Parts: sequence; structure tokens; C-alpha cells
Amino acid sequence: MSKKPWGYQPTNNRPEPDWDLNPQTESVRAGLARSGFGETSEALYLTSGFTYSSAEEAEIAFKDELDHYLYGRFANPTISMFENRLATLEGAERCIATGSGMSAMFAAVACMVEQGDRVVASASMFSSCHVVLTEFLPKWGVTTELVKGNNRQDWEAALSKPTKVVFIETPSNPLMDIVDIKMVSELAHKVGATVIVDNVMASPVYQKPIQLGADVVMYSTTKHIDGQGRVLGGAVLGSEKYINEQFQPFIRHTGPALSPFNAWVMVKSLETMFMRVERMNANALAVAEALEKNPKIKSVRYPGLKSHPQHELAMKQMNGAGGTTIGIEFNGNKDAAYKFMNALRVIDISNNLGDSKSLITHPASTTHRRLGPEVLAEMGITESTLRLSVGLEHADDLIKDIQQALK
Ligand SMILES: *Cc1c(COP(=O)(O)O)cnc(C)c1O
Repeated sequence: MSKKPWGYQPTNNRPEPDWDLNPQTESVRAGLARSGFGETSEALYLTSGFTYSSAEEAEIAFKDELDHYLYGRFANPTISMFENRLATLEGAERCIATGSGMSAMFAAVACMVEQGDRVVASASMFSSCHVVLTEFLPKWGVTTELVKGNNRQDWEAALSKPTKVVFIETPSNPLMDIVDIKMVSELAHKVGATVIVDNVMASPVYQKPIQLGADVVMYSTTKHIDGQGRVLGGAVLGSEKYINEQFQPFIRHTGPALSPFNAWVMVKSLETMFMRVERMNANALAVAEALEKNPKIKSVRYPGLKSHPQHELAMKQMNGAGGTTIGIEFNGNKDAAYKFMNALRVIDISNNLGDSKSLITHPASTTHRRLGPEVLAEMGITESTLRLSVGLEHADDLIKDIQQALK
């Protein structure tokens, strides 16, 4: 899977390893294309355009008969390094990075559908994805049916009619609902649908949707992949056929390109992703266990806890991990939940997630506000629901912070 990026020039003649590398090794090395100066670290090619040695060369480059970068909206060497590294980690044939998670999500679906098509999606999802599927696509004659939960009969019923795209977010943001990727993919493929998984909450460390039968994986790389709260980014991964024939032509002409600077930040972030996400996951489990024991907390939604309704499926599908985010149902009204948030001293109030800093959010008034009370109730999000993204601080400090704020 170690596809060389365009223009790859090895700067030494060492043979490549002839064994299968572990993902930790790939996260540090895959996709590295040295410039010829032999630099250790990935180079930042902050350029919007590229030059040709002759008019003829430009012509054959545009005819796709020569591997040559053309323009920053299409591709860039720093971005290619990031894409190739992420594709290797995911076990996908190809990856294309975009400027944000939402541009990745929109383009992944929009490049597939036309008037009269039908999309089936999991009901619990990030609010902007919900807006795209239920408000924007219908304007262009594409309908979306939402399936609540993980019941096989419900998915079977929804997928008994012709369907173009199935979009699932698992675990869901913010309540960590789990959908069985294998089951839904099997049902979807029977009706010829393409399965897209929003894998943001699990991250590439814990869930491999393509291995489970999905066709396309989508990320907001803003989350665990940058993971340090600096840059926005997105990525879509899938087969050569899907990327080359559908996704790439769509984004090439609609233009949600990633900045090479952001790609450079993120290719370096991939080097530490396993260490960071594994520690965040261990911290999240410790915090979730402590929260569950506290009477001021009504319930805790964390796939790593036995109390999670789909704990077993989550453990199977997410490689034994619960992830880095916890849904909390506060014992008290909105005012009490706000009071708790305001009393925290380490954990920040912020609507981002997957960050090295622990962040707490009140989804009903911020990230998911746009959906309105009815949809929120459908998703199980109340005025007392909180989302805690657990970071890299010491777990004891996070637990102490929560306990002092609950007093
Ligand atoms: C944040 C997020 C997105 C959107 O990503 P951006 O980078 O903010 O555009 C999509 N899906 C999920 C599950 C997210 O958490």
C-alpha cells in the first residue's frame, strides 16, 4: 500500500523494508518524499503553482501523460505526503485531503448523487452533516432517510429500496451511539449503495471501516489527527475507482483544497497520533469510571463502559477501545449543568474535540443548537447533556477538577 507520491525522488539508495511495517512505524514514515536535499523532516512546499520546462511539457502534464504537479487546487507535494501517510494507515487505496471535515463530508456524498437519488443515514450525527443531508440535498432532489439506532430490521427496511449512498457516523457525536459497520455495509451492498463512514470519533487508531466492509472513510482531521487545536482539515479515503472517477473530479472543480501549511502540520501530527490517542483513550476510561460513581451524574455514555448499550459491539468494532469522548447526562437542569462547567479549573469550555486539552461542551446550546428541539430529542440530547473530550493531562487532575466542580 506504500504508493509513492507523484514526483517521488529517493535521496538514498537504501532498499525499502521487505516486511509489513506496523502502523506506528507507518505513522512516522509512510509517504515521506524527500526533496533531494535529504532533509529529515517533511518539507513544507508553500506554493500555489508549479512551473514547466517547456510549453510542450505543460501540455503533456495537463493531458495526464506526465507525473507533474499542476496547481494547488489539485495537488501539492506536502499535501500528498499527508494523504499517502493517512491512506497507508487506513489501508485505503487513495486519500484526498480537503480544507475541513465538512468539505470532505459534503464532497464525499455530493460527488455520488443526482436528482432522484436516495441517501440512508444513521440518525445520530454531527449537526452540520445532518444539515447537509436533510436540508441541502433535498433542494437538489436527493432525499435522505434517517435510521435510528442499530436495529437490523430498521436498517433492512430502509435498505430494501434503491439507495445510492449510506452515511453512518459511529460513534456518534456527542452521545457515542454505535452502528454496526459490518452489518450495515452488507445490507447496503445488496442494494448497490456506497457506504461512507464518518470515522472522526474513533480516529484511525481505533476503527478501520474499510476492513469492516465500508467503501469510503471520511475525517475531520481537525480533531484527533491535528489533535492539538491548531488547524482545520478533512480527508476522504477509498478505492482508486471512487477517488479517481468520482471524488477527485468533483473537488478539483469545486475547490475545497487544503492549505499546504495545514497539511504540513498534520503530517507531523500523524507521527504522534498513536501515542496521543492511546493516552487520551486511557484517560477517558479513567474519567468515565470516576464519573459513573458520582451521584451528581445521572448517566455516562462511554463505549468503554459496560453500561453502554452497545459496549460489546463497540469493543469488537473499535479494537477494544472506547474512544476519547464521553457523553454525560447531568443530574440537574441546564443552570446546574452550566454551573458545573463554569466551576471547572483545568477543563476548558470549548466546542472542539479530539484535542490534547480536555474540553467540555453543552451541545444543545452550541454544536447541535442548529438542529432544534425536536431533532435533539430524537437524538437523545437534552439541556442537561454535556460532551467531554478527554485530553492529555494527567487523569488524576481531570478527575479532581470534575470532583471539585461538582461540589
Ligand atoms: C467536527 C466534526 C465534523 C466536521 O469537521 P470540521 O473539520 O469541523 O469541518 C464532522 N463530523 C464529526 C463527527 C465531527 O466531530
